Amino acid sequence: MADDLQLESGTESDTTEESSARSGQEEEEEGGAWVTWVHWFCRLKGNEFFCEVEESYINDDFNLSGLGALVPYYEYALDFIREADSLEVLTEAQQEVVENAAEILYGLIHARYIVTARGLAAMAEKFRASEFGRCPRMLCHGQPCLPVGLSDLPRQATVKLFCPKCEDVFYPRSKLHGALDGAFFGTTFPHLLTLTYPALRPARSVERYTPRVFGFKIHPSAFQAAGQTAAERKLRRVQPASRSGNGNGAAGAPASAPAAPATTSAAEGDGTATAAAEDATKPTRVANHSAAADRQAAAAQDVSMDSASIA
Ligand SMILES: [Zn+2]
Repeated sequence: MADDLQLESGTESDTTEESSARSGQEEEEEGGAWVTWVHWFCRLKGNEFFCEVEESYINDDFNLSGLGALVPYYEYALDFIREADSLEVLTEAQQEVVENAAEILYGLIHARYIVTARGLAAMAEKFRASEFGRCPRMLCHGQPCLPVGLSDLPRQATVKLFCPKCEDVFYPRSKLHGALDGAFFGTTFPHLLTLTYPALRPARSVERYTPRVFGFKIHPSAFQAAGQTAAERKLRRVQPASRSGNGNGAAGAPASAPAAPATTSAAEGDGTATAAAEDATKPTRVANHSAAADRQAAAAQDVSMDSASIA
């Protein structure tokens, strides 16, 4: 998979500086108030997509059932998040391993929390403030996006951004956000959010971009014609001898480029003749070839037809 997860290396390297400064002390003072690990973790650069999971939610074992099978050193990781004293016996290296496990565990707890009423409310607030970024599609006019996972299992795919206007998914713009595991947000969250808060759901984008060549819309048949011309060009390269018969082989390649607009205007009427004239030259060229060349031409046409139908 192209966007294979690099959770260990990615998150670790991105937060190393802050992590090392942090290691060994679960709480630190911020503006005179003691902050929790969760508060500190959510404020790290690259973790802006996370909301703070309430302490009461993390402390309720019922909410965490089944996560033990997904997270290494689960008990230690949970103690790390809950800031229990039991970790004091661990060496520095062990603490680092546990801290990495705690980040995965927090992500998976987060995925469950953000589909609860309170979690949805917290994420809706971030969505209103466009904290997840905006859709890169021009015709969505800067629509704020929501994070989404393509799998609910960790280490399957990184987080993507879902645009509720065009209903498509995109890679996050920031590399730090792009390294987050999609399972920390899950496959359900953005859709449940727009169902729970219908006012936040934008009208679906109906605007479509229209490709044009020299101002003309491109007729689907133009791609087929272009495919045939390309196949012919390939054949000419395979059989250089045919150039002598044609007399115009070298010029053929660039001349065939505007084939698309020419056939496009066929709908308007004036291009039909051009296309027909070009077709008329084909049999004579092929007639000069051997039977083997004919078979090659047929094969090339098949290929171009296939690619045209796929397109
Ligand atoms: Zn969009």
